[in-house]
Amino acid sequence: MYDLLLKGGRIYDGSGMPSYNGDVGIKNGKIVEIGRLKESATRTLNVDGLAVAPGFIDPHTHLDAQLFWDPLGTSSCFHGVTSVVLGNCGLSLAPAKAENRDAVIKSFVRVEAISRRVLEEGVQWKWISTAE
Ligand SMILES: [Zn+2]
Repeated sequence: MYDLLLKGGRIYDGSGMPSYNGDVGIKNGKIVEIGRLKESATRTLNVDGLAVAPGFIDPHTHLDAQLFWDPLGTSSCFHGVTSVVLGNCGLSLAPAKAENRDAVIKSFVRVEAISRRVLEEGVQWKWISTAE
């Protein structure tokens, strides 16, 4: 028995192959089967007429600072994006030694049009390296 069954959707599996109609069975938070499924589920969603696709990766965002006050990146995830790449266009909040943070803030003020006050108060500067 699936925990969740997405029934009758148009499946775009991300492989590059043409889309097809089918069902998606989910158990313990993972897709366990795709096809014309007969097994029952705790919860079934009729997704007829809807696209069923893995989350999209947005390789070019400018969410670096925004994620501090919008940790879900709602401008992306509300549109199906589940992964984002930061640090584009030569802008990144990391690495940033304490003595360089003002220069980083100036760049974000100028390029991203985010106010200095928002960057100083909205970003918790607790790192030096990118890994941190
Ligand atoms: Zn850019």
